[in-house]
Amino acid sequence: MAPIPGSGLAKGLAVTLRTMTKKTVTEQYPDAQPDLPPRTRGVIGLFEENCTVCMLCARECPDWCIYIDSHKETVPAAAPGGRERSRNVLDRFAIDFSLCMYCGICIEVCPFDALFWSPEFEYAETDIRDLTHERDKLREWMWTVPAPPALDPGAEEPKEIAAARKTAEKLAAAAQAERAPSDDPQGEES
Ligand code: SF4
Ligand code: SF4
Repeated sequence: MAPIPGSGLAKGLAVTLRTMTKKTVTEQYPDAQPDLPPRTRGVIGLFEENCTVCMLCARECPDWCIYIDSHKETVPAAAPGGRERSRNVLDRFAIDFSLCMYCGICIEVCPFDALFWSPEFEYAETDIRDLTHERDKLREWMWTVPAPPALDPGAEEPKEIAAARKTAEKLAAAAQAERAPSDDPQGEES
């Protein structure tokens, strides 16, 4: 069947009218910051204090874009007659974001919670070589990592918090026991 003359124009005008009345979706970046989801994969932050230089993240990274250098240090024995121990000291931790594919494997495999996603995304550079970011920058990004979501009210208490609470309770009980005799006025008289 032959199309009705002018039906194409009417359809086009209908689309124009429909979109004219809709709210615009254009983001006025950089004047207005985009409203990103909290778990956005922007960059990777490093919490250096947790890193034991186990190298797991560098080994598992499919792009081999994590560079870690370290040296060993000898720690004296904790008690007389004990053995000296050695520990790894971090010298360099860098990620080449021109190679990173944001798979998140490094963050998943880190056994010590030293790597985190940050929603920070404004790290464009004019030279690709400047996209290798060193530990100071990765640490700076750590402060843009959002707080973890609240625990489910029915969830088991995390091991670390339970251990810290028990220690605090023991210390408080010991302090209370120490104070008790001097607080007792009868004890002072006798
Ligand atoms: S997100 Fe993936 S590609 Fe990027 S550094 Fe981590 S493991 Fe490598
Ligand atoms: S996996 Fe974690 S602890 Fe091990 S080297 Fe990487 S960041 Fe450090």
